Amino acid sequence: MSPTDPSPTTPRTAPPGGLVLEVRGLAKSFGDNQVLRSVDLSVQRGQVLAIIGPSGSGKTTALRCLNGLEVADGGVITVGDDLTLDFASGPSKRQLAALRDRSAMVFQHYNLFPHKTVLENIMEGPVVVQRRKPAEVRAEAEALLARVGLADKRDAFPFELSGGQQQRVGIVRALALRPEVLLFDEPTSALDPELVGDVLGLMKELALEGWTMVVVTHELQFAREVAHEVAFVDGGTIVERGAPEQVLRNPTHERTQQFLRRLL
Ligand code: ADP
Repeated sequence: MSPTDPSPTTPRTAPPGGLVLEVRGLAKSFGDNQVLRSVDLSVQRGQVLAIIGPSGSGKTTALRCLNGLEVADGGVITVGDDLTLDFASGPSKRQLAALRDRSAMVFQHYNLFPHKTVLENIMEGPVVVQRRKPAEVRAEAEALLARVGLADKRDAFPFELSGGQQQRVGIVRALALRPEVLLFDEPTSALDPELVGDVLGLMKELALEGWTMVVVTHELQFAREVAHEVAFVDGGTIVERGAPEQVLRNPTHERTQQFLRRLL
């Protein structure tokens, strides 16, 4: 398959392996509150990085910086082998737009447009921002909706859907952007417990298909089963990272041990 003509469920980038995302020294403050202090991380193509850590430690902010929804104050983000943003010197608007185009975010509270139908929500980014042909985007959106079992909801409004259905639409909306990296911000933490499994199951399928994913999550079982690497964040920095078995079962840092003890 050509990388320029992916099927609706195939990531834009074809070759496995290689670094998709590299972050060095990422820093972000809100006023006097230094939320991120020198975050370093890297994600290989086709791999899943799970980010865990206590509430308020900066996980969401880090994810939003990766997508350019927040603009970091310092550090360097490299995507693939052709886009590097240096936040110390201030990236250009064009670089920020390019960063936004390379990843897609799935939000905790879905963030669907309430006044648009499911199909309109999915088509908005590809058509308006990426300027792709509406007919082609529509066909892709419909195929993706069918894939997640929501073909009959294409003309529904978000309020007519359950939380689990809304989040599956949120995931389809992200896939329709054909990003290199999928970013998930606690995608199941607003869901009723009985709906969590559906969304995690879909995310697991995407991981097995080879999507590159960064997932902020409290679902340790999911991290253990699906992630290639787990990073524990505390106080705005990555305290410990490594294979899931190591970080989740045998953490070396006291802060990771404390965090995991509280969850068990
Ligand atoms: P986590 O995802 O680990 O719970 P967050 O990244 O959401 O942590 O938040 C980390 C800190 O950053 C918190 O103290 C939060 O209040 C602060 N923060 C996050 N976003 C903003 C913002 N837009 N303006 C001001 N403070 C913010």
